[in-house]
Amino acid sequence: MQLKEPFCSRCAEPYARHAPGEFLCSNCEGRRWALARVRAAYRAVGTVREVVLRFKYQREYFLRPWLGRWMRDGFRRYYAEERWDALIPVPIHPERRKERGFNQSSEIASWLGAKVGVKVEEGLVRVKATPPQARLRRAERLRNLRGALALAPGFDPRGRRLLLCDDVFTTGATADACARVLKQAGAEEVAALAVARG
Ligand SMILES: [Zn+2]
Repeated sequence: MQLKEPFCSRCAEPYARHAPGEFLCSNCEGRRWALARVRAAYRAVGTVREVVLRFKYQREYFLRPWLGRWMRDGFRRYYAEERWDALIPVPIHPERRKERGFNQSSEIASWLGAKVGVKVEEGLVRVKATPPQARLRRAERLRNLRGALALAPGFDPRGRRLLLCDDVFTTGATADACARVLKQAGAEEVAALAVARG
């Protein structure tokens, strides 16, 4: 299912009623975001959701091009007109990466980067293993992320425009925590792109 406007101009939360112009949802209003905006071409329902889950949890690696194409749809729709210095995959903890064999965000980002001519840089690391965000409520999600992310050694985001990539985002809390680390280290602009919005 396509993600269509109207939606929140920050977190892309769909809005049932017609809303003229740009607006912020109640979650984003009054909250300080480090992230400029998050976008996806699809909702995480039906086939899209199933493919995302099978790629990540069943390790059905052959699904990578499908996810890549869906992410490219979002890139073309929302980000293709701007200059991006690098795609930054949302990191997973090394232990989880070992279990899974790969970081789904890195795999999808590298597919996209090769197609659209933007390099992928592993600019962030997850330094604390956290429970999966999906099992937590909103306030817990934010607490859960505190101190969980850091700049990768040697990565310098100063003055750069960076596009974070993930498979799915829901509240955008993880992407925003990533953006905060990058902005605090001097990134000029950080936005996020996912295959689908939860
Ligand atoms: Zn919002």
